[in-house]
Amino acid sequence: MLSEWLDWTLDGALPRATSGALPSGRYTLHAPGVLELTPDDGTTINAPQAHACVFSAAIHGNETAPVELIGELLCAIEAGTVRLGAPLLIILGNLPALRAGVRFIDTNLNRLFQHDLEVDGDEPDRARQLMAQVDAFYARYPGLPPLHYDLHTAIRASLYSRFAVVPCAAAPTHAAQWRFLAGAGIQAVLHQHQPSGTFSRYSKHYHGAQAFTLELGRVAAFGHNDLAALAPMLALLNALSRGEPPSEAPAREIVFFQVEHELIRHSEDFRLCFADATPNFTVFSPGMRLAQDASAGDTRVGKSPIYVVFPNAQVEIGARAALLVTPAPPPGATLKSNK
Ligand SMILES: [Zn+2]
Repeated sequence: MLSEWLDWTLDGALPRATSGALPSGRYTLHAPGVLELTPDDGTTINAPQAHACVFSAAIHGNETAPVELIGELLCAIEAGTVRLGAPLLIILGNLPALRAGVRFIDTNLNRLFQHDLEVDGDEPDRARQLMAQVDAFYARYPGLPPLHYDLHTAIRASLYSRFAVVPCAAAPTHAAQWRFLAGAGIQAVLHQHQPSGTFSRYSKHYHGAQAFTLELGRVAAFGHNDLAALAPMLALLNALSRGEPPSEAPAREIVFFQVEHELIRHSEDFRLCFADATPNFTVFSPGMRLAQDASAGDTRVGKSPIYVVFPNAQVEIGARAALLVTPAPPPGATLKSNK
């Protein structure tokens, strides 16, 4: 399964068969980079913790640690050491960018996951294909709660090296998810403040999924990732694949943040007023200048300190050059867990 899928995904070699048996279920190769795994009792899954799980990686092509993590999961399923107890849709997103070892080819795929997308091009076409695959997958399991973990690594170092971005959508996050993420070594959670075109937001908004963009350390080439640091995250993916309760840790071990503003690049003549190596979640004091933009002017910190996440001055004009965030109270007490 795995070798054929990777040959199709990375080399374009058509598989001999698009489905087959696994020790604990079946696999179906839907498209390059799109693989579905179905447990033996696929239509009557009774594992109490089973979700319909979408695990995606390489939505940005140079983020290889999540690809290695998913490779480990698939190896374990193929070897029979992880027994499937939940259906999985495994996705590698931007294949030309993955082959080239770059973030994207023409445009950032992770801005394009919207039903009314009207742009043309390879990345928009891939976004449409992946949205259709996710729609069809969740439709096959109406009795299971949908879940989507979109796995990434950050461009730069981070004061919290593993953190979750929670998309802005109406569906509530179950309290159990915070405990799962804490148990998987996630150190911080960042709540988005407005809708965006990310893949995780798509699943949350259109399908009510428990969905996160998970940032798992820093971008590195294949073979140079610290997978030991991601062992607890792999354990979470394994548990969800088995349909079993994952390891938990108290949600209070996570630091919560809320996005206050997006810093947008408005002109060619744009720069960030701090060093390129500044880690994510670095705090800036009131009055400090964060950015200079020929058309938008200066951006300064207001009355309260601001933490900067995902700063990137090299984005396309009109795109986000940084998130400006502040600490938020943990969700907790008022949210009911239903799983
Ligand atoms: Zn990414």
